[in-house]
Amino acid sequence: MKALVYHGPGQKSWESIPDPKLQEPTDVIVSVDTTTICGTDLHILKGDVPAVTDGRVLGHEAVGTVAETGSAVGSLSAGDRVLVPAITSCGRCAYCKRAMPSHCQATGGIGWIFGHLIDGVQAELARVPFAETSLHKVPDGVTDAEVLFLADILPTGFEVGVRNGGVKPGDVVAVVGAGPVGLAAIMTARLAGASQIIAVDVSDSRLEFAKQFGADTTVRAGDDAAAQIIAQTSDGLGVDVAIEAVGLPVTFDTAVALVRPGGTVANIGVHGAPVTLHIEELWIKNITITTGLVDGTTIPTLLQLVASHRIDATKFGTHEFKLGEILAAYDVFAAAGEHNALKVVIRR
Ligand SMILES: [Zn+2]
Ligand SMILES: [Zn+2]
Repeated sequence: MKALVYHGPGQKSWESIPDPKLQEPTDVIVSVDTTTICGTDLHILKGDVPAVTDGRVLGHEAVGTVAETGSAVGSLSAGDRVLVPAITSCGRCAYCKRAMPSHCQATGGIGWIFGHLIDGVQAELARVPFAETSLHKVPDGVTDAEVLFLADILPTGFEVGVRNGGVKPGDVVAVVGAGPVGLAAIMTARLAGASQIIAVDVSDSRLEFAKQFGADTTVRAGDDAAAQIIAQTSDGLGVDVAIEAVGLPVTFDTAVALVRPGGTVANIGVHGAPVTLHIEELWIKNITITTGLVDGTTIPTLLQLVASHRIDATKFGTHEFKLGEILAAYDVFAAAGEHNALKVVIRR
């Protein structure tokens, strides 16, 4: 088969490698129909994720068709259309049992294994461990492009942003960073009943996307962004929930500055550097700060919402490529700003 293979920092190629084989009775082999590229793949290519070694097939988001099933797999059969989520779940370890497969202990202590600890899904075929507890059947009548972004960004925005932030009907929500995950938080904050959603970003084109995804107002990031946002709240005290979706000290500081006494800062951003936590100011304001890695446990809910057309996840896919053009897809995604790109849809 052909696959996108990582060969160390800055090195990748679309090349022929042996087809994956069933290794455990709980495995299935999925024929990949549609996949995409994540910001995490770009971090891997910069060398930021040393657990990813030379020869690894990248990718952790796909929709495909079951090609082959292990002997212990009873509820999936060849021909089933499935969503392959970023997080694998054994269904049996202590973390999976507490609905936290992000820390599944059966797969190396982390639920994110595709394109990380085992070969990923930017390939014609992929081996999926713990298939029955990890894969989601795609409802009839739902297209690949409608569910592809439920593999990672939509549950990330929903679980780590909206749900951890405790967004409830009537809340005023600020989302700092209007990249794909920030937009997913905006889209799902609306579902959770937010009365007002304010997006903050440095890029005017991303703020335009934010409006299309449900932001009521937008603020250009800068020195007085926090003051501008606080001024938009009815009592001038700040927002109920500030969702950080970038992962830089400055954007974390912005999120903390926006939140009202008693409010919540929900961090989604992947941070690579320490931030200063001003506990001396926060303790007396009853501020809650949450963090987390996506579990994917809301994917069944999101699938229902897609099937009933309550959310249109196709909006994330701004550019389309054939699987054999994946290197061009990487070039566009890596320069997303220049191309006005959010996510790429890569089809067999
Ligand atoms: Zn991802
Ligand atoms: Zn587990």
